[in-house]
Amino acid sequence: MNILVVGGGGREHALVWKIAQSSLVDKVYCAPGNPGIAAQAECVDIAVDDIDGLLAFARQQQIGLTVVGPELPLTLGIVDRFRQAGLEIFGPDRQAARLEGSKKFCKDIMAKYGVPTAAYGTFTDRDQAVAFIREQGAPIVVKADGLAAGKGVVVARSEEEAIAAVDACMLDAAFGEAGRIVVIEEFLDGEEASFIAFTDGRTILPLASSQDHKPVFDGDQGPNTGGMGAYSPAPVVTDEVHRQVVEEILQPLVAGMAAEGCPFNGILYAGLMVRDGRAKVLEFNVRFGDPECQPLLMRLKSDLVPVLQACVRGELDRVSLEWHDKAAVCVVMASGGYPGSYVKGHPIEGLDRAAAIDDLFVFHAGTGLKDGRIVNQGGRVLGVTGLGADIPTAIRKAYQGVETISWQDVHYRTDIGAKAVKR
Ligand code: ATP
Repeated sequence: MNILVVGGGGREHALVWKIAQSSLVDKVYCAPGNPGIAAQAECVDIAVDDIDGLLAFARQQQIGLTVVGPELPLTLGIVDRFRQAGLEIFGPDRQAARLEGSKKFCKDIMAKYGVPTAAYGTFTDRDQAVAFIREQGAPIVVKADGLAAGKGVVVARSEEEAIAAVDACMLDAAFGEAGRIVVIEEFLDGEEASFIAFTDGRTILPLASSQDHKPVFDGDQGPNTGGMGAYSPAPVVTDEVHRQVVEEILQPLVAGMAAEGCPFNGILYAGLMVRDGRAKVLEFNVRFGDPECQPLLMRLKSDLVPVLQACVRGELDRVSLEWHDKAAVCVVMASGGYPGSYVKGHPIEGLDRAAAIDDLFVFHAGTGLKDGRIVNQGGRVLGVTGLGADIPTAIRKAYQGVETISWQDVHYRTDIGAKAVKR
């Protein structure tokens, strides 16, 4: 079978790397891919939001299964289009993808089906939003309703900061249509964790636990990013938290989506805040987390392809997931200046040396080719992922890889996994 992976970041490199190991697969294509992905797949230059182009390609190459990495094509309805054309594709349809595409939709569904989350209000009127902020006080969280590449959320320490965030959305239209509706919610304290599960709309099949590191600097300082590193398993997800998330969060949500006429099929990613051993939902994503996907797939022993197929076909109750006992840690190497502006095009040294290290894999995210050399081309450039008997060993392995690789102005956190060790 031929498989097409849609996307070109670290998450898609991990998906391609894992899928390419399946005995069921003849050839893997990736659109648009990146220079690292090109080692395991044929990259085709089609953008993730060019649904007509992707559909034409899938037909032409007799693609047996398409796997969608990022949220944008899902919210644009790529799954609906492929299904109408009779092609198998992994991911939620447009209606179900609103869980990530609209924070208002997500909060309303959680409220209706009793899923624990922060108290909230939604607003289309600036003065009502301001009045709500004055009434609730700070800290308080302001979110643009639509997709804003992780930049539409402000955790405001003062009422003034919260009002400025509302004005950015509603008066300055900083996020365009995505900020026309604003969700304002209660600030939740605690430790964040990611809980990722397959679901075919009925059965829920959780992946191993993991934890991301959003802020750009050590000690969780500085602005939020797409994620500076991740590890799995995550000790914050105790057996009791796991049980609570499945029974009180995922089951009611999956049943609720079905009852609303938009059953969810694909990866359901709950961003959680855990406090005193109980989880509340910060957000749902409708695809694998990036970078969590890298350590998770390095730990997955089972062939991923039959699981993806079973999910698409509504037969998830027939498969299971087997994990390596080892822990995995992914350290993201980024362009200095990210998540602000940064200089692209610096040649990356040491990739060959890192490739020779056992139990280590370097997933490419924002890399490009210039004069035949691999250079930094995006904010998050590489996901250096190490395996080890436990988290401390996996941390050492990942940083051994990181220290082998360099380019001008590279930035990475030096404390990925430290929280897990502290526990
Ligand atoms: P992502 O980049 O994960 O897709 P997003 O734009 O969808 O982000 P959220 O995940 O809702 O936004 O929020 C981003 C971050 O803001 C969270 O990871 C968390 O650190 C913080 N945050 C969001 N909501 C709250 C809350 N109610 N209380 C405290 N912190 C919050």
